[in-house]
Amino acid sequence: MAILEILEIPDARLRTIARPVEAFDDELRQLIEDMTETMYDAKGIGLAATQVDVHRRLLVLDVSESQDQPRVYINPEIIESEGSETCEEGCLSVPGIYAEVSRAEKVRVTAQNPDGSSFEENLDGMHAICLQHEMDHLDGKLFVDYLSPLKQRMVTKKLQKQRKISGQKTPQAVL
Ligand code: ZN
Repeated sequence: MAILEILEIPDARLRTIARPVEAFDDELRQLIEDMTETMYDAKGIGLAATQVDVHRRLLVLDVSESQDQPRVYINPEIIESEGSETCEEGCLSVPGIYAEVSRAEKVRVTAQNPDGSSFEENLDGMHAICLQHEMDHLDGKLFVDYLSPLKQRMVTKKLQKQRKISGQKTPQAVL
């Protein structure tokens, strides 16, 4: 296993639209292991392949309190969504920034397992939010894109300032 480097804003590679996973092979399984280890190491609850500069449609997440229930979604697609929920989000690729984002409250997702088999699942709560956040990464989208232009400028300034100071506080829910 290996800890992978996580791309950070404003890296243009975060804007890449990921292509479907086609080969369910050892290389894919290795990537899933490395992404899962990287997510735990960075204290995140989700990580999309895009964030580690692999532009394929897969993501890992773990929204359990005990942080011992990793989940993998390969080629995920949301087939139904309902309601709306606002939650304060953070992102490993946008360090130190938190902002409220509205997303669907409940989603039905289809995806594939590492062996290529398909599954369908209903998600709600943090699990649904995290999945939607990570799926945005696969389309080159970041949570700060949902903010108003004024707030986006504030985020940019904060990031510039922050990079000059070391010793950031530990984030809460980083996706
Ligand atoms: Zn993120």
